[in-house]
Amino acid sequence: MKVHHAEIVISAVSPEQYPKTQIPEIALAGRSNVGKSSFINTLIDRKGLARTSSKPGKTQTLNFYLIEESLHFVDVPGYGYAKVSKTERAKWGQMIETYLTEREQLKAVVSVIDMRHDPTVDDIQMYEFLKYYQIPVIVVATKADKIPRGKWNKHESAIKKKLNFDPEDDFIVFSSETRMGKEQAWEAIEAYLG
Ligand code: GDP
Repeated sequence: MKVHHAEIVISAVSPEQYPKTQIPEIALAGRSNVGKSSFINTLIDRKGLARTSSKPGKTQTLNFYLIEESLHFVDVPGYGYAKVSKTERAKWGQMIETYLTEREQLKAVVSVIDMRHDPTVDDIQMYEFLKYYQIPVIVVATKADKIPRGKWNKHESAIKKKLNFDPEDDFIVFSSETRMGKEQAWEAIEAYLG
């Protein structure tokens, strides 16, 4: 998709604020600092629309970005942020779970993980959660530029094994630095827009 227009429409703190349109939504999940904002900005060719923040996970809102009047990217703030209280985390988890399991407009979730390392417990739980609820998932392994090309296969296999990856899902080797994987990511997303 060639993006000419992208804007944030709402940072929602509660479901009443979610857009009341039928525009299809693609949610983006990942731990703080994994490169989720950079992924969004790379896909829409903007430097700073999605916030690449130095205080990861601080604002616990669902951010809806309208793309080309035809799709919403929904940025789900990074999980695994240590500095929120248990109560906050639980409340937050509930809001995300409800969104992911009940939102009719949601077509697929992009799960952004760091290609350099094994997936975290949170990454694995998120993947299992999405599989359990049969929510289509696109795994984006980002920061590939930080690994020598000759090691990509090894990292990909290790991640897939840890995730118990379903071969029917998309797995995209990605880098916001080099923009590799951008077209493949768009193809995977567009396939879910119907
Ligand atoms: P978020 O918290 O998941 O939204 O993460 P950000 O997009 O803010 O990225 C966190 C840090 O990782 C920033 O310093 C980015 O510049 C860096 N980063 C993100 N994606 C990549 C990538 O593909 N390659 C490299 N080398 N750095 C990246």
